[in-house]
Amino acid sequence: MTLMQRARSTVTDEIGAVAKAEGVEPELLRRRVASGRVVIPMNPIHACRPCGIGEGLGVKVNVNIGTSKDLVDVEGELEKARLAMKYGADALMDLSTGGDIDAIRRRIIKEVDIPIGTVPIYQAGLKAARESAVVDMTEDDMFNGIEKHAKDGVDFMTVHCGITRQTVESLKRSQRITDVVSRGGSFLVAWIIHNEQENPLYQNFDYLLDMARKYDFTLSLGDGLRPGCLHDATDRAQVHELITLGELVHRSRRAGVQAMVEGPGHVPMDQIEANVKLEKTVCEGAPFYVLGPLVTDIAPGYDHITGAIGGAIAARAGADFLCYVTPAEHLCLPDKADVLEGLIASKIAAHAADIAAGRGMQRDDRMAQARKDLDWEAMFREAIDPEKARRYRARGHNEDSQGCSMCGDVCAIKIVAEHLKKK
Ligand code: SF4
Repeated sequence: MTLMQRARSTVTDEIGAVAKAEGVEPELLRRRVASGRVVIPMNPIHACRPCGIGEGLGVKVNVNIGTSKDLVDVEGELEKARLAMKYGADALMDLSTGGDIDAIRRRIIKEVDIPIGTVPIYQAGLKAARESAVVDMTEDDMFNGIEKHAKDGVDFMTVHCGITRQTVESLKRSQRITDVVSRGGSFLVAWIIHNEQENPLYQNFDYLLDMARKYDFTLSLGDGLRPGCLHDATDRAQVHELITLGELVHRSRRAGVQAMVEGPGHVPMDQIEANVKLEKTVCEGAPFYVLGPLVTDIAPGYDHITGAIGGAIAARAGADFLCYVTPAEHLCLPDKADVLEGLIASKIAAHAADIAAGRGMQRDDRMAQARKDLDWEAMFREAIDPEKARRYRARGHNEDSQGCSMCGDVCAIKIVAEHLKKK
């Protein structure tokens, strides 16, 4: 039985653990898992730490890592994974496309105890591309790839089932600038156009559900038609795909399979809330996993910032899971420093949204008190990146000063504290 099926009658250990970590009622959480409004991606083969994503829980952050054809440094990817866990990533996706993809995935799964996600269509498409062309990928390639990842213990998988012959027609009729920017989405759009056949992941969705039920992995219903620029945001092609994903969420729940929905992309600030509300309505409250969203197209090198701005707005509107964006987005494969910048930026967005939702200002209060007390060790303990805070404070710091080099001996906190004491 899947976790969702068990949740229909029992507060399972996983649900109990998440309820404790999140400070919510186990019975309430059980109902939300049973109804699909919360997912706990957890393939029993990997047995990761339970992490709840969805309604009434803290906003979660995912980190993407992985090799590319041009950059195959497996140890480097493992270091990124360790760094991501050290700085509080809630989940991690291995998007490797270079080197021995199977071996890399298995090493990363072994290395981390947080939920792992993959996009199996990448491997199927790459195999076909190396033999002839992506569009020669077979249906068996697609499904065998998914089963292989499931057998390895992958907890959630991005599957682009919402790209259908109809949504491709919507795309063809659209006025888009950047058409398709999703790698997996591009494989399937090209496959449908070339083969003039329906997307096997949609056509045989029940078979996919059988596999997900057998291995109890969570479906991350991919938004292959997500907007790759502000101009294309919230257009008919994107919304058409979302409606299809809503149908698939419904079918997944009937089958006892956990499903979340992936979301955009590049979206102007004033359209983000509408995108979230639309997903929550059309997809019956399914957890929403958004990439960014990026609120401008003009900031390459700073897309961790544009993504965090959009992520905060989306999370405030009800999105549940933020896929981080690094400064390397649109430019190159991220290195360790990029991974950290991207993760911290998204963690800030998630935390800010949690505070606005009335969850967890205690840490901020502890930081404020530590600042009041000029208790630097306490400040470093509460900081989202203690090492950076410590490094910055050390810059130009005069050992005799209780404050920092910003104001030196005219430290406002110190001055007022001394005079308030005299009262
Ligand atoms: S020196 Fe200025 S910036 Fe530094 S702790 Fe004091 S008031 Fe704050």
